Parts: sequence; C-alpha cells; structure tokens
Amino acid sequence: MSQICEAISTIRENINKAQETSSLAEKDILLLAVTKTVEIPQIEEAMACGITSLGENRVQELLSKYDQIKAPVEWHLIGHLQTNKVKYIIDKVSLIHSLDSLALAQEIDKRSRAINRVTPVLVQINVADEDSKFGLAPADVEDFIKKAAMTYPNIAIKGLMTIGPYAEDPEEARPVFQEMRNIRNRVRELEIPQVEMHYLSMGMTNDYQTAVEEGANIVRVGSGIFGAR
Ligand SMILES: *Cc1c(COP(=O)(O)O)cnc(C)c1O
Repeated sequence: MSQICEAISTIRENINKAQETSSLAEKDILLLAVTKTVEIPQIEEAMACGITSLGENRVQELLSKYDQIKAPVEWHLIGHLQTNKVKYIIDKVSLIHSLDSLALAQEIDKRSRAINRVTPVLVQINVADEDSKFGLAPADVEDFIKKAAMTYPNIAIKGLMTIGPYAEDPEEARPVFQEMRNIRNRVRELEIPQVEMHYLSMGMTNDYQTAVEEGANIVRVGSGIFGAR
C-alpha cells in the first residue's frame, strides 16, 4: 500500500475508534482531504484510496486543480472567500465552509441565482476569538443565520465550521468543539426555514479525533494524509 493510502486508512481507523468511544460521535463522517500545495498525482492517489471530496483554501488553486483532475470528485472551498472571487467558483463547489459576512452571503446568493442553483454553505465561527482568524463571534451567529436565511434564498445554510486553536495538545481544542456543538444545537432548535444545521466541520490533522468525539461530521485533514507542507 502507498504511503498516502496507509495514512488514509490509519485516519479512518482513528475516526472509527473515536466513534466507538464517544456517545456524541456522529455515524456518518466525511473525511475531507485538504489538498493545498499538494500535486495532482498525489491527489489522484488519495482519490484511488477512497477520497471523494477535496478541500482547497484558495480560489486560484482550486480552479487550477479543477481543470486538471478529470475524475469526478467534490470540491469544498474551506478558506476565506473574497466577494469578488465568488463568480469563479460558484458552479464548481459543492460546499463553501467559510461564509462569514452578509456581503458574502449576498454575492453567493446572486451568483447562485444566475446559474439557477442553491449553494450549500457553512457559517464559519471564531470560537476562540483570535484576531488572526476569520469567522463570526458565537454571540452573533443566531441573528446572522436568521437574517441570511430570510434574505438570501439561493444559499442553503447546512451547519458550522471552525478552525480550532493551534496547540500541541488536542485536548485544548475540546472546549471549542463542545461550544460549536452547543451553538449548532441551539440554532437547530430555532427551526429556521431553509436552515438545516446538519454539519459540524471541525478537526484537522492535529485534533480530528477529539473533534469526532465532540460531534464533528466533516473533518478536514491535509498534512495527515499528504505529509508536511
Ligand atoms: C490547511 C487547512 C486544513 C488542514 O490542515 P492540516 O493541519 O494539514 O490537516 C484544514 N482546514 C483549513 C481551513 C485549512 O486551511
């Protein structure tokens, strides 16, 4: 087995273990392979080992790889998205993880309507409230989702995304993941029309097991699959 295949199967085993040890773990978990800086042959190898969805954090890189990879695969935009770049990716992505402003919601809505589709999005939350990261403050999430859902019919809010605090010890991220689950559940109880609140996109190479234990159903793993960048 190739290194990439081995890494993927180890990660899948670890996800299974986390599912077995935690009553909060979700049944269906998407392992999103984060392919920033990764070359096409390595990406195709990961796809041959069962990867069905790729995450890119830059529009330009997503577009270039989109053209080069011929086999069917789902593309997720996981990085900050500028409003003026929405038009390039709108017909190519199956999920945008990084909705963080009404201006961006408006643009995604407008571009989606123009091609007659509804684009699934996650709202990015900045739980740790670190200045260096994008995302809404937890206190603003309910109002934001109500307003976006009411105003923009061509976006479908499907859940929340966060980037955990950078730390050696994944236990430091656990309270952040717990808060994400609480926010998701709170918004879900509001039963806002057109808002599904199914996904929690959280956990990366360093902390995906902890994230799964706390209810993540999309984990975004890059270096754990492809090696250090
Ligand atoms: C790079 C990146 C990841 C993956 O990080 P790894 O530590 O390599 O697993 C996940 N999410 C986002 C938003 C990223 O930019």
